[in-house]
Amino acid sequence: MQVWTKTITSFLNLFLQSPCPLCQRPACEQLCQDCTKKLLKQHAPRTWKLSEYSVLGFSWGTYGGMLKRAIAVMKYENQPQIADILGKCLAQAWIAQKNSDRLASSITFHSQVVVVPIPMHPDKLKRRGYNQAALIAKSFCEITGLKLKQNGLERIKATEAQFGLSISEREKNLTAAFGIGRDFYRLPAVPVLLVDDIYTTGATATAAVQTLHQHHIKVCGFLAVAATRKDG
Ligand SMILES: [Zn+2]
Repeated sequence: MQVWTKTITSFLNLFLQSPCPLCQRPACEQLCQDCTKKLLKQHAPRTWKLSEYSVLGFSWGTYGGMLKRAIAVMKYENQPQIADILGKCLAQAWIAQKNSDRLASSITFHSQVVVVPIPMHPDKLKRRGYNQAALIAKSFCEITGLKLKQNGLERIKATEAQFGLSISEREKNLTAAFGIGRDFYRLPAVPVLLVDDIYTTGATATAAVQTLHQHHIKVCGFLAVAATRKDG
């Protein structure tokens, strides 16, 4: 009898467990243990200075392996819940960084900043249904307790995909891509911490920082879950 109860329970558990979005195997958590382990292998927090600006860049991990897959599945396979996991990872790493790194702690880590996600063009948002950077920023703020201004920036130009473009092409592609969003029609009194999923050449970060600077809004940092290169 006991054996049967056990068998039935584990059989039911199999159905109650939702599949891991990265490998489709049953998982008790949002990701299965194996994918979590592989994801954590990419964890390599890094700070750098964005060129031309005294803005701190910070990333949770190296773009590749399971992190690359997690980001792709989150964006292109309708799995927005992955953003929640990545945002929490970013938040925990940022808290640790602030405690161990003079640069990060000197720039700021107190309640006197507002977090702004890199926005998506409304047409793209309509197609995808969610902006992963906004979801990452939301979960980041839940852990850090920082204030979220989801509409600090807006994307006013539908840019081509950055993939495959050279650095100068990327910069050109992003010229005037951003505008001030409705959350900043009244200027914020505190600096901005930008959040995105990936940092590649820095073209997106630069364009967003430029837009905010032009409107006399201070930017203190650019945080990305994954980064592909060492400096901006
Ligand atoms: Zn998995």
